[in-house]
This record gives sequence, structure tokens and C-alpha cells, in this order.
Amino acid sequence: MINKTFKKIPKKISVMGQTYQNKQRKDVVLDGQECEGVADVANKIIYIKKTLDPKTKWAVFFHEALHAVIFESAAWQNIDDSTEQIIVEKMSQFVVQILDSHF
Ligand SMILES: [Zn+2]
Repeated sequence: MINKTFKKIPKKISVMGQTYQNKQRKDVVLDGQECEGVADVANKIIYIKKTLDPKTKWAVFFHEALHAVIFESAAWQNIDDSTEQIIVEKMSQFVVQILDSHF
């Protein structure tokens, strides 16, 4: 079950061989909009809002990490932005549900 005692989100991950840093911040802003997470693929940094509950934090982490996978694999060339959002969100929800149920 993903709760406060669950593993912490790693500080660094490898995405298709590229090192991404995961940074937790009190405020995460994209284009002037407050949000829960951002994948800054240009600088290879994933930002996650620090104050989220553990389960939401993991969901946001996977969501943003999957954007990084799509970027690094060049899969973005074959899908539009709204399709990408749906894919990363559904995949993230699926992974978190498995972690939450079985780990
Ligand atoms: Zn997204």
C-alpha cells in the first residue's frame, strides 16, 4: 500500500539511458499555471509538488516520467499532445493501482 512508509520517490532515474533528476518543490508552475508536476525534458528534470499525499505523488511521478519516456524514445513524433496526455495518465493510474494493491 502506498502510504507515508512507502519507498520515497528516487532522486534520479534513468529514462532510455538519460539521467533525469526528480525534484520536489512546494510550488510547481508551468506557463503561469500551478500544477502537480512538470517534466522539463530539455533540462531532464521532473518536478513534483511536495505537499501531495504519497499515492498522488507516485501517480504524478509516473505521469511525468512517462512524458520523459515518450520524449526520449521520440514516440512524441507519432502522437498528438492530447493522445500523449491520455496515454501517460492511464498508464500512470494503472502502475499506481498495481503498486498500491500489491506492494
Ligand atoms: Zn501530462
